[in-house]
Amino acid sequence: MRRLGCPSCGAEIWFHNTACLSCGAELGFQPGRGLVPLGSGGGAACANRAVIGCNWVAAAPGGLCLSCAHSTVVPDLSVPGNDRRWARIERDKRMLMRLLDA
Ligand SMILES: [Zn+2]
Ligand SMILES: [Zn+2]
Repeated sequence: MRRLGCPSCGAEIWFHNTACLSCGAELGFQPGRGLVPLGSGGGAACANRAVIGCNWVAAAPGGLCLSCAHSTVVPDLSVPGNDRRWARIERDKRMLMRLLDA
């Protein structure tokens, strides 16, 4: 796993983190830019952030990030455990997309 720097305080951040453990800033990953702060003046959270913990930035508020937008099939979330499995697959897909973009 790769670590990045918090844009607010410079603390080391894991690639999958949604917030800085040092200063608490809500963060999102933007391909080509790295970690950016979320909220006013910053990036928009992916619509899947609250569902599967996606920490990438969406192109527009309420939208999906580049990685989630590539998912054409979403598992049936009424099946117990599927939310956890989907979150793990999407997390690995974000890592793959990051590596391919490097
Ligand atoms: Zn920080
Ligand atoms: Zn996403």
